[in-house]
Amino acid sequence: PESFLSVRDLQVTFATEDGPVKAVDGLSFDVRRGSTLGIVGESGSGKSVTNLTILGLHNPRTTTVDGEILLEGKELITTPEKEMEKLRGNRMAMIFQDPLTALSPFYTVGWQIAEPFQKHTGASKKEAWQRAVDMLEKVGIPNPKERAKDYPHQFSGGMRQRAMIAMALVCDPDLLIADEPTTALDVTVQAQILDLLKDLQQEFGSAIVFITHDLGVIADVADDIMVMYAGRAVERGTVDEVLRSAQHPYTWGLLNSMPRLDSDLSLPLEPIPGTPPSLLSPPSGCRFHPRCTFRDRVGGSRCVEEVPALGQGRSSACHLTAEQKRTIYLDEIRPGL
Ligand code: SF4
Ligand code: MG
Repeated sequence: PESFLSVRDLQVTFATEDGPVKAVDGLSFDVRRGSTLGIVGESGSGKSVTNLTILGLHNPRTTTVDGEILLEGKELITTPEKEMEKLRGNRMAMIFQDPLTALSPFYTVGWQIAEPFQKHTGASKKEAWQRAVDMLEKVGIPNPKERAKDYPHQFSGGMRQRAMIAMALVCDPDLLIADEPTTALDVTVQAQILDLLKDLQQEFGSAIVFITHDLGVIADVADDIMVMYAGRAVERGTVDEVLRSAQHPYTWGLLNSMPRLDSDLSLPLEPIPGTPPSLLSPPSGCRFHPRCTFRDRVGGSRCVEEVPALGQGRSSACHLTAEQKRTIYLDEIRPGL
């Protein structure tokens, strides 16, 4: 399958007052055309930084980026900002968690969808307005002709999210990056928005990178999953592979903290004990080792000393043997889920 977006050994380092922070440390992944990659991890795992870097939205004065980001073979890291500006909105677009960071309170919703279309395609103002109305209809805004004249504050939260999706898709981007797009919405609206994204992907054929801390959402929208922890990828595979036979202790923890439909919701979820490490001085060896309850099974000090490697395709970065990963998941993790 053709890789549409290829990220190779990406390293993103921020200069801070306390010293350099390596927010992303040697990340490689591929996104196939028309498919959805779900990137999952806690805050501070580097998932959002990765995607801001792909879009070229990082601050170049405080951020050092190494490695390769190839969009259909075109290297983005070295692409000048003027050209990146053209790519954003046209070939690449982003949906944020909070629509108010993308929508301006001072312009009508219709104009904010029409404007980038006009800019990128050279369409007339009238054509662009019609396109905006069509897009609002596509994302399920009732009475779009009239609602296009409204300002964002006249829309509900769910409708603003739909409007932002319309804005992101108006130029038919090949790559859509969605960063926690449904986190702020209630469950019903969240499900509607996810359905909408899936339908639009069918229609537009975009590749989507979907970032979330919620494995349940990933299960719903993604084809492939990459789990990130402390700036590195720790597990990857198809949705089926990762959800049916998770291999990494961190992924097990995430699965454990997922609300389950058939469970008693009054029971507290089991979040992973401890907090993600500071990336100013990350733990040696496996970065998950201070929180991992399976270190003893590996034995010795290997987890503390040796960085576990992540392979290509279906793989997990953990020193447990393949047999241990399989049996622990089947005998100890899954029965509790
Ligand atoms: Fe746990 Fe060791 Fe595997 Fe890291 S390498 S996840 S510390 S068992
Ligand atoms: Mg386009």
